[in-house]
Amino acid sequence: MKINILASGSRGNASIIRTDSSCILIDAGLGIRDLVKRLRLVDVMPEKIDSVFVTHEHTDHIHGLGKFARNYNTPVYITPGSYVSLHGKIKKDLHGKVNLFDPGESIATNGLDIKSFKVSHDSAESVGFTFSENGKKIGYVTDIGELTPLVIDELMNCNVLVIESNHDPVMLENGKYHFILKQRIAGPEGHISNITASTLIKEVYSDKLKAVFLAHLSRENNRPDLAISTVYENLQTIEGFEEEKTKLFLTYQDRPTEWYEI
Ligand SMILES: [Zn+2]
Ligand SMILES: [Zn+2]
Repeated sequence: MKINILASGSRGNASIIRTDSSCILIDAGLGIRDLVKRLRLVDVMPEKIDSVFVTHEHTDHIHGLGKFARNYNTPVYITPGSYVSLHGKIKKDLHGKVNLFDPGESIATNGLDIKSFKVSHDSAESVGFTFSENGKKIGYVTDIGELTPLVIDELMNCNVLVIESNHDPVMLENGKYHFILKQRIAGPEGHISNITASTLIKEVYSDKLKAVFLAHLSRENNRPDLAISTVYENLQTIEGFEEEKTKLFLTYQDRPTEWYEI
């Protein structure tokens, strides 16, 4: 099983999980042209995508969803709450391709088990996912306002994690955003900070964990080097933690990551 984060951040999110027998797109938050371009960059033909799994209906996660599903006739898996919150035009494009699932449901496709779980965010019905195949597990959570016991429980025993590391609390506090927006971002239905991301990794850490991708970094309220150093610093306090055994990776708004295979 391998993963590529095609784009991550408030201007568009999309990732690919690929196995020998399946190819799943998580979110389609880039415009259709950019999305297709990046898929080709990482050697994935858009028509080879088996299905799109949607975390939630915010624009940075669904911007290209309708056109992608229409152009390539791709099935889309989405929660009922997120689906009803989509614009009419996207719903029209998705006609006949929608598979609704409730948070907590598992979906099996071509040997890949996809488990969804509820996360706290100011959207209609947000979820995170885990992807499991042959005893390997990838956990995927972005856009979460707080760490809940459920999120921690679901992300146990992962080999790879993609987790939000949205902001540095001091940069957010001192930044130029309006007070209301600052409150929203830092609130329990907003986005988690670098330090909270590291707490989440610590909570679920096991020696199985080989790679962590820090995702959805804010351009305004974070810096890649700060996210990495904050998380590493906190992880050093885990007994038995070794940098060489659990790699930290950044994700990017303007380009895909390298593939990571587990
Ligand atoms: Zn987002
Ligand atoms: Zn969101």
